[in-house]
Amino acid sequence: MILKNKRIAILGAGGLGVCAALELAQRGYQVDLFEKHSEPIRKASFVNEGKIHLGFIYALDKDLFTARQMLVGAVHFISNLKRWISIQPEELISTPFNYCNHKGSLADAEELALHYQKCSQIFDEVSKRFGKKYLDLEDKIFSRKLSKSEMEDIVNPEFMEDVFITNEYSVEPRRIASLLREALYQEPKIELHLNSAVQKVERIGTNFRVHYSQSDQVFREDYDEVVNCTWNNLLQIDQTMGIEPLYNWSFRYKFGNKVLVPFQAEDFPSCTMVQGPFGDCVNFKDRGGFFSWYPIGRTGWSEGKNPPEWDKMYSEEERFDIFQRSFEELKQRVPALKGLQFPNEKVDPVGGVIFALGNTDVDNSSSKLHTRHEVGVRSFDGYHSVNTGKYTLIPLLALQVANRIDGKDETNEKTTGIHYHRHLQ
Ligand SMILES: Cc1cc2nc3c(=O)[nH]c(=O)nc-3n(C[C@H](O)[C@H](O)[C@H](O)COP(=O)(O)OP(=O)(O)OC[C@H]3O[C@@H](n4cnc5c(N)ncnc54)[C@H](O)[C@@H]3O)c2cc1C
Repeated sequence: MILKNKRIAILGAGGLGVCAALELAQRGYQVDLFEKHSEPIRKASFVNEGKIHLGFIYALDKDLFTARQMLVGAVHFISNLKRWISIQPEELISTPFNYCNHKGSLADAEELALHYQKCSQIFDEVSKRFGKKYLDLEDKIFSRKLSKSEMEDIVNPEFMEDVFITNEYSVEPRRIASLLREALYQEPKIELHLNSAVQKVERIGTNFRVHYSQSDQVFREDYDEVVNCTWNNLLQIDQTMGIEPLYNWSFRYKFGNKVLVPFQAEDFPSCTMVQGPFGDCVNFKDRGGFFSWYPIGRTGWSEGKNPPEWDKMYSEEERFDIFQRSFEELKQRVPALKGLQFPNEKVDPVGGVIFALGNTDVDNSSSKLHTRHEVGVRSFDGYHSVNTGKYTLIPLLALQVANRIDGKDETNEKTTGIHYHRHLQ
């Protein structure tokens, strides 16, 4: 392979930064990858729930842009990851999700059924167009509303209106993070700079100067192209380049509690409670369980460009308390959870940042947080800023970034204010 001599800096070794770096290295580029933390993929792409979205949860986005966006990402998720790591989806997936329509939901069963049906239709179109299955496993997606007696086997009917079974899954993100890290450490074309916090980027002629700090020392390096994949720091670094977000935004801190003991598939059902500020439980079988209850676990909210360092703000006791209170709420709704046994040491109550356009919360039906289609790559003559949007979109966007740098994607937006969903189609 010819070594291409463009100098590239990727800012942030999260899921997106690492996948983009691996793809560029495979194409023959030398990449410098800067990470503020002491280890790659330890933030949002590690603590998240791993749901590979089929668009079901975005039922309030009536124009279906978000559902389409997620479906395009979902069919590329495993097949793109296979470019960089050896991965068997059967070994990583959760049990399938039940969509449980909670009392007080922002949508009724009829609206949900119609939305899920539309998602299935879009899936057929997207799957045919790209010649890809969901997670390389499913060539159809489905949902079916359960009868009241079937529903009572899964949830406490005092809290739920209806339940739909689906074939949507999560993949276990910690295992994927570990496989990606191994691939990263073995790739000689990527130079990983850990404990390196990028402060700013400036344009110097046709090049870019990246300023970063290690301990108290500040360093500078020049590059031909820069990709900002810093997620929680995206807006602040973009600002140093004079780039503003499309419109108002919010950063949230949400707990992604993990219980790290093996479960049987039949121990408890994977449930997503919709439509509004509810919660999830995910059964990853031998890879443990994930438990979140939004009203308790969504502890932080910021509309600044640089959100607080939430990861450092909670004591171990406070974290455990957030897990316990969340789990109690879930137990009331999913009775099978009452039978789970695990020692406290096996609970990992970690949290992560969610960046999204929109600054009203999910209990508001017109909140922009119910959409996630104005995401993706914004390119400004060699400086690329990536709003990942969702974990689901990482492998798709990593290829899109590489295509931009490789000159295979002609799109080079210089202005803001366009519908970014077009970039993913
Ligand atoms: C609790 C929770 C549950 C979620 N569930 C789902 C889900 O089920 N499905 C789904 O699709 N999405 C989900 N998400 C969203 C998903 O996790 C994110 O969209 C995605 O992981 C973002 O990936 P990323 O690589 O952009 O960011 P990250 O993985 O956070 O990586 C960004 C990296 O940049 C580094 N960085 C930041 N600032 C600097 C700096 N100045 N200099 C150098 N490095 C820096 C960070 O340390 C980090 O390593 C969830 C998120 C959370 C928090």
